[in-house]
Amino acid sequence: MENLILDGRLVAQSVKDSLVDRVKDLSEKGIIPCLATILVGNDPSSATYVKMKGNACEKIGIQSQRIHLPEETTTEELLETIQKLNEDDSVHGILLQHPVPAHIDERKAFESIAIQKDVDGVTSFGYGQTAFGFGKYPSCTPAAIMKILEYYKLPIEGKHAVVVGRSPILGKPVSALLLNENATVTTCHSKTTNLSEIVKLADIVVAAVGKPKFIQGDWIKKGAVVLDAGYNEGNIGDIDYEACCVNASAITPVPGGVGPVTISMLLKHTVDAAEEKAAL
Ligand code: NAP
Repeated sequence: MENLILDGRLVAQSVKDSLVDRVKDLSEKGIIPCLATILVGNDPSSATYVKMKGNACEKIGIQSQRIHLPEETTTEELLETIQKLNEDDSVHGILLQHPVPAHIDERKAFESIAIQKDVDGVTSFGYGQTAFGFGKYPSCTPAAIMKILEYYKLPIEGKHAVVVGRSPILGKPVSALLLNENATVTTCHSKTTNLSEIVKLADIVVAAVGKPKFIQGDWIKKGAVVLDAGYNEGNIGDIDYEACCVNASAITPVPGGVGPVTISMLLKHTVDAAEEKAAL
């Protein structure tokens, strides 16, 4: 089947282009949007992700305040750092890079981020607002998936969307966003029985499992739209890309699919937050 390759770099560029004038307008008012990133410990992948996000900010005139805390940081110390950023008027968004070292209560740290600065969509309050349909900053990967569907004008209403994965930052919020757009949503997880049979019913498949090449080609219904949020070692997604191309009408590659759009949504949310603050 001829497939449309959903080019995340193109979508990300269009999001970033749409921010340039907005950043300029803010700077004319003396406001520079600022994203504070917090990295705890020495995980090399996390360090790379944080660096990429900071660099992406700076390229479009968003200030990046990078905080790197040592591995032995306690939950209380991390909470204090977040509290200071919550109170800092020059900071518009806060991103705590996941995962933090195991001895830290990550959920408690996420929950301490002020809702107006939760541009990465990690608080349960933000998730609740997203699920209710009025969230300002949904988690960035779910927002990226929706942006790709919007950019390519792929219809959602009335479609059966099957999301494989139910994590708080990915599977659950993307299920909520698809439901808000009037898809009929099935959310699958590790205890789902007959997974392949359920995926075979999907018009839209979202893979958010964290297992390389997990979704098989013969699970994909002819004409389905396939979005792969997975990012595993060696640049491998959660779908078996070549095999899924056989039946998919449209599909995201890895790399160059959901990943770049995720970062652009983080930038957009930071600019949104700076504008919100400026309007107060
Ligand atoms: P996660 O927290 O580990 O969640 C994985 C989900 O997959 C869980 O809900 C789990 O079910 C489900 N699952 C595991 N094995 C399964 C199986 N055999 N059958 C059905 N479901 C199964 O992972 P995550 O943070 O959501 O990330 C998922 C993927 O997205 C990873 O590859 C990650 O690298 C990627 N990711 C990409 C971006 C990006 O910017 N592109 C951002 C974030 C994450 P249970 O709930 O039952 O355990």
